[in-house]
Amino acid sequence: MGEVVLEVVEMTKHFPVRRRGREALTRLRRAVRAVDGVSFTLRRGRVTAMVGESGSGKSTVAKVVAQLDPPTGGEIRLHGQSVRVRGGRAFRAYCRRVQMIFQDPFASLNPVHTVRYHLTRALRVHGRPAADLPELLAQVQLSPPERYLDKFPHELSGGQRQRVAIARALGAGPEVLLADEPVSMLDVSIRLGVLNLLRDLKEQLDLAILYITHDIASARYFADDTLVMYAGRVVEGGDSETVTQAPAHPYTQLLIDSAPDPERRISPDTVGGEPPSLIDPPAGCRFHPRCPKAMARCGEQAPPRLEVGDRPGHWAACWLYEEAAS
Ligand code: SF4
Repeated sequence: MGEVVLEVVEMTKHFPVRRRGREALTRLRRAVRAVDGVSFTLRRGRVTAMVGESGSGKSTVAKVVAQLDPPTGGEIRLHGQSVRVRGGRAFRAYCRRVQMIFQDPFASLNPVHTVRYHLTRALRVHGRPAADLPELLAQVQLSPPERYLDKFPHELSGGQRQRVAIARALGAGPEVLLADEPVSMLDVSIRLGVLNLLRDLKEQLDLAILYITHDIASARYFADDTLVMYAGRVVEGGDSETVTQAPAHPYTQLLIDSAPDPERRISPDTVGGEPPSLIDPPAGCRFHPRCPKAMARCGEQAPPRLEVGDRPGHWAACWLYEEAAS
């Protein structure tokens, strides 16, 4: 296990809902509870996947950790020091150590500037010489550099654009990469290449990577550890092999059953329903309205993290494991 670089402790992020009509005359204040009590650690030389369906709050976690959005509660610690920055020098200093890679490389690169401009600017902002430019392109396997330096984003393929976005993030010399669905906008044929690149970079540069994805199969392939999010909460965690091969939480089992597999026939009504509203989420376990194993207490009390099985570090927030843990 590598050194802990970044810790997230009991993070919450609520977005106030604008009051309309009669509601504006009342004191009622409602909020979308996008993230509620999320805790995890990122370690040097390890990839941690955060898996969940759309709207589960995983991208919000990445934005808050990147300090692009302030948390409503909880703490972010970098090397044990609590960090909360709003801009200016402190933000730049934080960005030097924690960089984000966005889902859509076409949107994250400026279409009127060349690769040379994007990367030189990143190096300059973070106090590095422009002479590091060829090395940066070599790190993301875009070589020879002169073939790419004067190209505009629209002259590159999707995979090459994402590699430029990764090179720009590396220009800061970060310790942590927050990769928000980094391959979901790419053609299936080039996804593996970008994931392999991130894995090589993790090993060469000893990076801690948070990999946000809705694809649990890619988490198994790429990540060392996996966290599963449902309706703003983390419901299961452990090493990726265990979480994906022996899922404990009924929601993780649903995610795995939903992954396409021509060899398996699943009954479409095994688990029905939709994710709940995060303005007024269900009491107790947020999965209980959909859970085929729900018990009376599931709708009243939120389950804590409970150890599962005999693999160290494997846990699930589910009352089914209460006896096993005690
Ligand atoms: Fe299902 Fe209850 Fe476990 Fe929630 S706590 S996942 S409702 S069994």
